[in-house]
Amino acid sequence: MLFENTLSFAKNLDDQDPLASYRSHFHFPKVDNKPVIYFTGNSLGLQPKIARKYVDEVMQDWEALAVEGHFHADKPWWDYHERLAAPLAKVVGASPSEVTVMNTLTVNLHLLMATFYRPKGKRVKIICEEKAFPSDQYLIKSQIRFHSLDPDEVMVEIKKRPGEHNFRTEDIISKIKEVGTECALILIGGVNYYTGQVFDMHQITKAGKKTGAFVGWDLAHAVGNIELKLHEWDVDFAAWCSYKYMNAGPGNASGCFIHERYHQKTDIPRLEGWWGTRKEVRFQMKPEFEPMPNADAWQVSNASVLSLAPYLASLQLFEEVGMQALIEKRKKIVSYLEFILKEVATEVSGNFEIITPANPEERGTQLSVFLHGEGKALFDYLMKNEVITDWREPNVIRLAPAPFYCSYEDMYRFGQILKEGVLNSEL
Ligand SMILES: *Cc1c(COP(=O)(O)O)cnc(C)c1O
Repeated sequence: MLFENTLSFAKNLDDQDPLASYRSHFHFPKVDNKPVIYFTGNSLGLQPKIARKYVDEVMQDWEALAVEGHFHADKPWWDYHERLAAPLAKVVGASPSEVTVMNTLTVNLHLLMATFYRPKGKRVKIICEEKAFPSDQYLIKSQIRFHSLDPDEVMVEIKKRPGEHNFRTEDIISKIKEVGTECALILIGGVNYYTGQVFDMHQITKAGKKTGAFVGWDLAHAVGNIELKLHEWDVDFAAWCSYKYMNAGPGNASGCFIHERYHQKTDIPRLEGWWGTRKEVRFQMKPEFEPMPNADAWQVSNASVLSLAPYLASLQLFEEVGMQALIEKRKKIVSYLEFILKEVATEVSGNFEIITPANPEERGTQLSVFLHGEGKALFDYLMKNEVITDWREPNVIRLAPAPFYCSYEDMYRFGQILKEGVLNSEL
């Protein structure tokens, strides 16, 4: 499609956008009383307006029913978490029995590693990407130490080639082959938080499984962003947070995927708690753990219902819209943003290097832009002028126009503000 850097062209794209009305389903923060251009849905998604109603419902049930709310609330609390599995399963390409919601992301990865990282004999190594999200690095190193092993010997980081911004699938596959039967686990972020690169999860999972390793994915930046087919790709496990593209609110609960082949295994190591026991006998308070016949067996504590409420609200919107429509709009709006960035760079003789892959199949909603020759002053200028983005050292801004609520007009307006910012900083 041929784009134009004009207001009328952008407005025309909005007029044709089947998701345009969803913008009004979210609360936008304001700067100087003007709604912002929000590029940080990859960090904290906007609040869906219906979220408050779902939270109020729980507050009212608690007020009116107290302990009886566990069984007699309109949406009873004792199995509240089960309501999230079916809509989430569609978002991640799984069957509902393979999905559960609990705790928070890093906690869940630890719990899942209790099951899926079982170093034994020579098979002890964990393959991950270099410069992974810090929490993932701490997670992996501490798990290795927990097993009395040395991270320097056991953690294998896949590297980028010198001078390149992104990982090559062929390099990842060949590293997996090289580590071979010494590989116990492959754990990578499905979408890199810094560059926005989408990994070829299907091929990497296949290569990993061939060596006999378990393969898990941290999907913090992937869920609600790109197409996922966790079951079909034969992934062993995955976990994600809900406050980025899933719009469920700050620090909110994490989703987990556990492939159904593990559900009936009785000898599987797992860190257990009462919420993972079969619900028919959960309140009989028996000494023996009888696992739920699905991913819920990994549940530990009774669910934090107040935080699941806004997540459930957000999932209602995902149900209505569907990932396919979000992905279609995402591809178009990201291409439009890319076009605007290039136009502005030409107009001001700027050097904005988009370090996110140019191939639409290798990227999602985020464009990471290296602002050569510009300093943090430009970022500050954007923030003062209603553009909410984030700054990453040394000189990168990340722009994620979430298709649920960002408009094409936002992209055009951003281009104009960026241009003024660059011209101003030269004064
Ligand atoms: C956001 C993010 C996290 C955050 O983990 P929490 O446990 O929710 O604080 C972890 N890993 C990745 C890759 C992330 O992008």
